[in-house]
Amino acid sequence: MALNEISALLAVFRQSVHNRDYKADKKSRKCKWTPWKMASLADHKDTWRGELLRGISSVPTIGVPGRLACFEDCAEPILLDDSGQPVMAAARIGKGAIIVFSHDGYMEKFKQNDENFCQLFDNCLAWLNVERKTVVYDDDITEASQLPTSGALVVDGGGNGLEKDSFNPTEMLVFWDKVVQAHHDLRGTDPSDFPRERVVADSQPCAGYMHAGYPIVTHLDIADKDSDASVLNMSLLETKGNWGLFHELGHNMQRGAWTFEGTTEVTCNIFTLHAMHTLVGIDPWRHPWLRNQWKDIHQYLKKPCYNAWKENPGVGLGVYAQLAHHFGWEPYKKVFREYERDVHPPSDNQDKIDRWVIRFSRTVRRNLVPLFEFWGLSAGETAKAEVSEFPSFLPKDEITTMHQSV
Ligand SMILES: [Zn+2]
Repeated sequence: MALNEISALLAVFRQSVHNRDYKADKKSRKCKWTPWKMASLADHKDTWRGELLRGISSVPTIGVPGRLACFEDCAEPILLDDSGQPVMAAARIGKGAIIVFSHDGYMEKFKQNDENFCQLFDNCLAWLNVERKTVVYDDDITEASQLPTSGALVVDGGGNGLEKDSFNPTEMLVFWDKVVQAHHDLRGTDPSDFPRERVVADSQPCAGYMHAGYPIVTHLDIADKDSDASVLNMSLLETKGNWGLFHELGHNMQRGAWTFEGTTEVTCNIFTLHAMHTLVGIDPWRHPWLRNQWKDIHQYLKKPCYNAWKENPGVGLGVYAQLAHHFGWEPYKKVFREYERDVHPPSDNQDKIDRWVIRFSRTVRRNLVPLFEFWGLSAGETAKAEVSEFPSFLPKDEITTMHQSV
């Protein structure tokens, strides 16, 4: 089995977060949240289930199983517990095949050749197309070279090592679900209408340290629990979030209509700041990442002009952080939702700036032209006229008073 097949197979399982599975709609590649598909011993209509449960009328329960979730059409729940949760699932991609049990007790039974499980084990071997003598148990592996010659590897799912590190994958996955949900909530879209976000940790990303897209690609450090960039470390996520991945997920939220020239690396961070605020509790105005831009902002404000503004995403975020600081997230939500309903895209960059200024001004009922002009961004004459009925807005805050104080 090629390595990519193994990783693809492992990717079709994960712990259940919502008691639901995602089923991919093959045509649109959109994922819908649907209730678990019920599988039972009586339900032999499916070929896989038929093969794997051949000659078996019942399978003894072992301990308290963990939870499995199957994604995509290549994975199927095979056995369910009393509450309808899969305790055994199978998947096939290309030449690769895998069967997963959610309790390590099954592995022990196979190892001991327990007669109550013989038929099930034989069926598994037949379905995997491997012989009993080639099966390797993870605690038997002394050399990695055993793996390629073996057709099957039984992994002990006891997880003692993980428990010692208090690693809780469900908690972590729930957190990341919330990040994606927070991003969609800000934009006014439903995550169910979009493909599930995927992140691939790779040793050789092709662009920069991380890049957005489908999938988001990043270095291996995010998968290292001890790294500062870890996406698995709950205490880190709960106290600092993960700027890098919030940012990349933010890129996947961007719309061209409100991302005018120079803001490709900026408007994604509106989402970063929002998720940092709502999930991690860090006030956007006080976020260390923003505060680290203070020096550049101060320098820039000595001679503001749009061409220079476009060159520095840290400076660019300033005005968006001000809007969140003075007006909160509700206006953002309203404005983004208006864009989602738009029929006609902006005609050019000036039109993009004008629409943003008009919409935000109308939403907060303040004329934001002075604020944008403070940053070197000019609205067109028509836009200015449209918002002139509202009181001008240029607050006295740590940014606008920067040039006086230093
Ligand atoms: Zn970026």
